[in-house]
Amino acid sequence: MDILARNKRLEDLDRACLWHPFTQMRQWMEAPPIIIEEARDCFIRDIYGRWYLDGVSSMWVNVHGHGHRHINERLKTQIDRLAHSTLLGLSNVPAIELAHRVVTLLGDTLKIGPDSLNKVFFSDNGSTAVEVALKMAFGYWRHIGVTTRDSFICLNNAYHGDTLGAVSVGGIDVFHALYAPLLFKTHRSPSPYCYRCELGLRQDDCDMRCLKEMEAILSARRQEIAAVIIEPMIQAAGGMIVAPKGFLSGVSELCHRYDTLLIADEVATGFGRTGEMFACQHEGVVPDIICLSKGITGGYMPLALTVASQRIFDAYTGEYSELKAFFHGHSYTGNPLGCACALACLDVFEAEGTIEGLRPKVELLARWLRDIAGKRFASVGQARGVGLMVGVELVADDSGCQYGQRIGWQVAEKAKQKGVLIRPLGNVVVIMPPLAISMDNLATMLSIIEEAIAEVTDAT
Ligand SMILES: *Cc1c(COP(=O)(O)O)cnc(C)c1O
Repeated sequence: MDILARNKRLEDLDRACLWHPFTQMRQWMEAPPIIIEEARDCFIRDIYGRWYLDGVSSMWVNVHGHGHRHINERLKTQIDRLAHSTLLGLSNVPAIELAHRVVTLLGDTLKIGPDSLNKVFFSDNGSTAVEVALKMAFGYWRHIGVTTRDSFICLNNAYHGDTLGAVSVGGIDVFHALYAPLLFKTHRSPSPYCYRCELGLRQDDCDMRCLKEMEAILSARRQEIAAVIIEPMIQAAGGMIVAPKGFLSGVSELCHRYDTLLIADEVATGFGRTGEMFACQHEGVVPDIICLSKGITGGYMPLALTVASQRIFDAYTGEYSELKAFFHGHSYTGNPLGCACALACLDVFEAEGTIEGLRPKVELLARWLRDIAGKRFASVGQARGVGLMVGVELVADDSGCQYGQRIGWQVAEKAKQKGVLIRPLGNVVVIMPPLAISMDNLATMLSIIEEAIAEVTDAT
């Protein structure tokens, strides 16, 4: 079969058999899909042989580039030894090694003692890591005899995944409102979205009223809140919303003062994405439970960890007959292939000095953001980011663009024609390259995206 016939067949079969996530399928059918079949370093290649820069880290997961020799080797070695065995009633070597490695890493980076964030529970993806955290926190109070703490505080614009528990603590109406009748009750606190402050305040004199709103909920409902769940430093899927300095530590402070648990969802921010290994480091915060996934395997395999502190673990220990075991688990929990990739990914962080190497890239991005926000495009509302998580919010007018205008999509489409793959969030252009991207490729990516913004927004 010649190559064009093969490609046509794949395109037809995609349209015939696939239902793509977060995708309006009618619109998907209108143009040939991009079908990827190879990737190297920070580039991915489609079936026609076109190479693209991976500007979204393959949906925020890739860290050290595609096809990294060390991760490939470790995965191959592992697959010849053991592909899968369960953690229900058994253990396995890579799961033990990884749990120890992550606990040590959390201890070193967050500067915490041996009783903090020292118990690792495995699952497969960010949403399940959050489900596990919510159930763990809820059960913690029940098991220590507190029966009133049956709800959570979460933030507007929050995104914690797509399973129903994670959706319950989500705050993006476009994604979540439809399912409202299925969700458990939560208390929503304002998003730290200074550019469009929902309290109608200005950042220079607001004194972080959004934190005071959270405090009001906590003080009115002292005995009802099982935990506060947040995305530390940046609400990613909500539109790369960067919290003002002091917000994260303020939330942590409130959790201590009102004696409730803090769940840090570092699914997006963990493993270097914000310039530090974990986003909590930026403000010296130590949560009671941390959720990790996306970058943990370097973008190779689905794997997630929910790491809890000793006191939460202790609440679940008891006699068999007390039924305090944590009745939760997944078929592929502690999958050895995923764990092997994660171990290799952490090796590479050390061997290549990934975190140290980020500094000039973070500076380049910060300069670019300042530059683009400066003056040149009337269409740029706010350009913001932390580390290598960046968003440019485009506005048609003061009220902002609606999802329907699809201006972010138009920019992504243009960038794609120029060889850069990005995926916008509404009217926010998101730039999130693999941490390993070279300075040259990063500069190229930014200039192409800037061109795309200029061309699309000048034309509208
Ligand atoms: C992506 C994401 C999730 C969900 O992870 P999945 O692996 O897609 O289920 C949860 N929380 C945050 C902060 C995320 O960015």
